[in-house]
Parts: sequence; structure tokens; C-alpha cells
Amino acid sequence: MLIDSYDRVVDYLRVSVTERCNFRCQYCMPEKPFSWVPKENLLSFEELFLFMKIAIDEGVNKIRITGGEPLLREDLDKFIKMIYDYKPSVDLAMTTNAYLLKGTAQRLKDAGLKRINVSIDTLKPEVAQAIAGKDVLKNVLEGVEEARKVGLKVKVNMVPMKNMNANEIVDVLEYCKERDMSIRFIEYMENQFAAKEISGLKSDELLSLLREHYEFEDEGFDGSSPSHYFRMKDGYRFGLIEPYEDDFCKKCNRIRLTAEGNLIPCLYFDEALSIGKAIKAGDIQAAAEVLREVVRTKPEKNRWGGEDSETSSRAFYETGG
Ligand code: SAM
Ligand code: SF4
Repeated sequence: MLIDSYDRVVDYLRVSVTERCNFRCQYCMPEKPFSWVPKENLLSFEELFLFMKIAIDEGVNKIRITGGEPLLREDLDKFIKMIYDYKPSVDLAMTTNAYLLKGTAQRLKDAGLKRINVSIDTLKPEVAQAIAGKDVLKNVLEGVEEARKVGLKVKVNMVPMKNMNANEIVDVLEYCKERDMSIRFIEYMENQFAAKEISGLKSDELLSLLREHYEFEDEGFDGSSPSHYFRMKDGYRFGLIEPYEDDFCKKCNRIRLTAEGNLIPCLYFDEALSIGKAIKAGDIQAAAEVLREVVRTKPEKNRWGGEDSETSSRAFYETGG
């Protein structure tokens, strides 16, 4: 079992399989980065899988594939199947912008993927174009329908921003509710790569806007999920991710692996250790030691809130959110 120095059990690994993306979301990657990680520096799926096996043997029981946009990486279904065949009980999920889901959902499901989280920030084509930098909405919504049809469980993430999509929180919630999909509103997390003019809707502002339409009760947190949950009168539950709150990191159970093999103990900070050399050499002991060291050095909390609050220099498209 992996336990950090604050007694948190780390059993959740988020794996970014590429930093590349077909969107240019304002809050994440408004400009193409100066250079991408060269393809030869990426770990192959065989190499990534070797590390997945080590992590599972050390106690990881939840793996989320993310990016950049994970569906840009060829043969993703084969990678998913490798993990599934190794340990079918691992909770295998993926976070995607859904643009390429229409043609791939069935293969992903057949490979062993159980759940996906999809980013839907708006239901208006022109707003989607303004956020993502191109006309994406039709493909995204068709991708979601396809995923549901093949039996993947779908959750929706929305990042509400003032003067952009904040006036759509009720519409997006209703879209999810009608389809029995849960929604999590994610507070915009400041980072050096996002567009400068973004102003995220804070959780208290969001809740008071929702209260104009609904009655709901605070249900608090559920296990180690970072979501703060609220239940509406008809039973529908929505989540709120508040990284600026003091207790956000209290139950954090996750670490992150980038596509080139950097293992990151916290989404906020730059610190990372590479598993690349050990994995390329097939040195299981050395890779497992890097994993344990990253867990040991996991910081107590991020610095989005509080007195020493700063703008994170980590790119979301690199860590996978
Ligand atoms: N491309 C996929 C997608 O968009 O779902 C996966 C990667 S993306 C980095 C993962 C999640 O991070 C998405 O739900 C996205 O909305 C969220 N995200 C990216 N930048 C963010 C920011 N600055 N603040 C809050 N959430 C952010
Ligand atoms: Fe791409 Fe996801 Fe970042 Fe948008 S949030 S630019 S879809 S990685």
C-alpha cells in the first residue's frame, strides 16, 4: 500500500498519454505550446504498461487516462486492454473532450474502459468555438451520445467562466440531468498557460446562481473524491470542485504520470521525478522506488488558496488535470 507522509493512502494514478490536443481551451492551452515533447521522448504503451503493473502491485486500484487529448494517441484501446487484462477489477476511466469519441467509444468499452468524464462547458456552438478555438460542439455531443449508447458511464465536467459560459450552468446541468449523467462544476484554477483575461466563477457565486433555480442540500464529501456534493429535492446530485478551499487536499489520493514519464505528486507544483530511465531499462525495483519516493514527498496541499496563494506554473495539458 502507498501511504504519504500525511497518512493519505495513494491508490489513484492519472496517466497523461499525450500533452497534444485538438482543442485550444482558454483555461488550459489557448496557444499551441512553443514546442511539443518530441514523439521519441514519449513512453511507449508497452513502457507505460510496465509502470501500470508496478503501480497496481504497489496498491493503485484506480487509473484514469487523460491528456492533452488521450484519443489523439493511436491504439489507446490496446493500452486499455493491457491494463484490463492484468487486473480487471481496476477502476479504469478516461477524461476526454469527446471530439473523437463517436468512432472509438465501442472499441474503448470492449477493451475494458468503464467510465469517462467529458468536458462540456457550453451547449452553444459559438461559445464552444470561443472556448476551444474551433467549431467542436456537434462532434462533442454526438460523442457523448455514442458513449452512452455503448454503455460507458459518462460524467460531465464544466469550468464556469464569467462573461463566457457562467450563464449556462443551469442549461448544462439540465442537459446532464435529463440523461442521468452527473455533473461536476470545476472552479477555474489559475495557471501560467491560461488566457490572461479569464475570470472563473467562484463556488459561492455558482451556488447562489443555482439557488435561484433549485433547492438543494449540502452533502459534503464522498470518500476521497475531490468533489463537494449537493443533492437537489428530486434526488439529483451535482458536484463542485473547489481547489481554493482549505480542505480540498485533505483526502487527496492521487499522483500523476506525464506522457514522457514524469511522476508528479501534486497538480499544483512543478516537482516531479522521472521513471523514464528505470522503465526503459526494465528495472522494476528502481521504478517502484521512484514511485514510493514520489508518494513520500507528496505535499500537504496546493497553493491556489490561502495567504501564500500563487499562480501555478504547471500546465494542465501536461498533467492531465
Ligand atoms: N482533454 C481532456 C478534456 O478536456 O477533458 C482531458 C485533459 S483536461 C486537461 C482534464 C480536465 O482539466 C478537463 O475537465 C478540463 O476542463 C480541466 N481543466 C483544464 N484546465 C483547467 C483549469 N485551468 N482550471 C480548471 N480545470 C481545468
Ligand atoms: Fe485540450 Fe482538454 Fe486542455 Fe481543452 S482542457 S485544451 S480539450 S487538454
